[in-house]
Amino acid sequence: MLFMYFSRTCETLEGISSRLEMIDVISKVLPALNPDELPIFVRFVMGRIFPDWSSRKLGIGPNLLIEAIGYVAGLKKEQVIERNNKTGDPGLAVEEILAIKSQTTFFHEDLDLVRVYADLIAIADMEGKKSQREKLLAVRNLLGNAHPLEGRYLARIMMEELRIGVGEGSVRDAIAKAFGVDAAQVEHAMQALNDLGEVARLAKLGPEALKNVRITPFHPVRMMLSQQGTIADMIEEQGEVAAEFKYDGSRFQFHKRGNRARLYSRRLEDVTGALPDVIDHLLSATDHDVILDGEVIAVKDGRPMPFQSVLRRFRRRHDIAEAQDAIEMIPNVFDILYLDGQTVIDLPFSERRKILEKVVNRYLAPQVVSSDRQVIEKTYGEALDAGHEGIMIKAPSSPYTPGQRGKNWIKIKPEVDTLDLAVIGAEWGEGKRAHLFGSFLLACHDQGRLLPLSRVATGFSDEQLAEVYELLKDKVIAKAGRSVTFEPEMVFEIGYAELQVSPTYEAGFALRFPRLIRIRDDKGIEDIETLDGIRDRYQRQSKSAQAYQDQGPARNPGSPGSPGA
Ligand code: AMP
Repeated sequence: MLFMYFSRTCETLEGISSRLEMIDVISKVLPALNPDELPIFVRFVMGRIFPDWSSRKLGIGPNLLIEAIGYVAGLKKEQVIERNNKTGDPGLAVEEILAIKSQTTFFHEDLDLVRVYADLIAIADMEGKKSQREKLLAVRNLLGNAHPLEGRYLARIMMEELRIGVGEGSVRDAIAKAFGVDAAQVEHAMQALNDLGEVARLAKLGPEALKNVRITPFHPVRMMLSQQGTIADMIEEQGEVAAEFKYDGSRFQFHKRGNRARLYSRRLEDVTGALPDVIDHLLSATDHDVILDGEVIAVKDGRPMPFQSVLRRFRRRHDIAEAQDAIEMIPNVFDILYLDGQTVIDLPFSERRKILEKVVNRYLAPQVVSSDRQVIEKTYGEALDAGHEGIMIKAPSSPYTPGQRGKNWIKIKPEVDTLDLAVIGAEWGEGKRAHLFGSFLLACHDQGRLLPLSRVATGFSDEQLAEVYELLKDKVIAKAGRSVTFEPEMVFEIGYAELQVSPTYEAGFALRFPRLIRIRDDKGIEDIETLDGIRDRYQRQSKSAQAYQDQGPARNPGSPGSPGA
């Protein structure tokens, strides 16, 4: 497939707002693609480059892109930045610049999809001292052969934000439609393989190929996620439930086959190098080939340490031995996805737990199974007393559903009103904070789009503001007056007093009294709250306000100080 054809398809999709129409357009393109092109097209159209399980990173920031396009068009860096700021979109800026340039040059080597992908792999794999220079040359070469429209989408792919509004759900449905298979089967295969590109390739072979997918060690799968709820509702729905402590640390997925073992973070980054002590602990716990799910906590004198100390270890690249002595890292294993060649995610949780108890002899998270509300509330009290965040309540009959946030895992913790949101922009601070970003624009997620929802300026210590500045200063993609726009990567956990319907922000809601709880660099944009989730919260909030008016305050086992009440 020519990259031009891909770009035209993106242009068509960009002009469509109906999800069904998008699915239709994509489903008509897919059957014509050969097995090499299919996975690439599927990932690119979602604005992704590599399979989701892959730790590969392109490593091209806005600055490198600006330098490359400046060179190709013979413009000064400042001129490129000016255009970029005017459009607020690196894609449109590159397109505009290439359009001017193409009036003076005639030669283009046609780009095709497979070649572009091969170049991007080569760019990602460039390492070492000279890599920035090599990457720059490769990007210059790609952009130098691009027509303006191709430039728009190449630039956006390199920034990993395609801005055409095609979400994973739409592509899943398009695959189902294109190859006459069930969308649920496509979803299930995606959960195991964690690469919709590969799933499309299998769907083309037929339903049998999709059905027979297996999890592969060292291809991490997405983590199953939880939602908020109450002990009473969960027991009413499930009868018997399994309660575990909610550890306040960092999620991990441990893969082991024979002597080889690796550890992945919640964002599926390979963190093996940073946590050799955790790997040793887990290797000592089992002789089997396994994929385990759990949470690492930092412990000092028998009590959990703040979450930030765990994150610091996950981030660490140097002096790892020294860091190990300072803090003890303890894994708590609570699930199993793969055992000795078999994928076990479809077994009920109670069965998976039995397997876990057989094959993992240390570091297993204790569990209380009961249908008695008082027993579960007692566990909640014990969790808080021991310094944990709260409890997780799980449905014993539920499969492990990677990447899904559902009712099968419920979290109960004292502070319930927090949201994970993407940081998409900022304004410069004032006074002694004038050299730092002061207030941040936050967004939720809706079908592949980021929608502004709130600003936050409180809750930051001076140190945190400095830290955020360091992390974000190279992610600026546009400037206007005192405001900047970021490449969306960072996630903040935000506390708030109330959700309000509001025309101020595109999401249609706003937060009252937003404040920073934590910088969540263990989470990515894919983890942030969805607009649907926010609507749900709003409805729950209105309902409980109504109940309060009708009956006075309700007893809520999820609120502080009430365990055992
Ligand atoms: P939250 O990040 O507040 O949405 O809470 C869900 C997170 O709690 C999971 O992603 C895990 O990182 C963490 N967690 C801690 N203990 C457990 C547990 N026993 N089971 C599942 N998740 C847990």
